[in-house]
Amino acid sequence: MTQEEQPTLHSRRSLTLRFDIPISRTREFWDALGKGRFVTTRCSACGNESFPPQADCPRCMSDRFEWVDLDREARLVTYTYVQVTPASFVNDDPYIIAIGEFANGIKVLAWLEGVPVEKAKVGMKLTVEARRSSEGNPYYVFVPSLPS
Ligand SMILES: [Zn+2]
Repeated sequence: MTQEEQPTLHSRRSLTLRFDIPISRTREFWDALGKGRFVTTRCSACGNESFPPQADCPRCMSDRFEWVDLDREARLVTYTYVQVTPASFVNDDPYIIAIGEFANGIKVLAWLEGVPVEKAKVGMKLTVEARRSSEGNPYYVFVPSLPS
């Protein structure tokens, strides 16, 4: 029997997805973001800064760490323009996903807002902004930096 001959039930129902994501060891990051701060972890043993925050250092495996404030300014390394969106983001399309690199070398993936795709340029200065979703969850986006 080939794949096409398999009996199939077709459904047009929509699915609603609900997530409960455990954040206990990185809770400080989300709490800080909710207050408009952008922080990450620095390993107390070797000084390595990680993003996303890591309770266990990916370089030396130490579990001792401290929280440090990250810069707000990054440079656009690369981006992609998402026109055909996954169902969970269908109300937000189209959008830009960007990777920004901070002066300390940390790279962060986030949505890029406030700039049309034809004006997005690799190397442009970006600023991280804290936001809050309609569910009340803090999140962060890149926006173009204002000329100084
Ligand atoms: Zn380390």
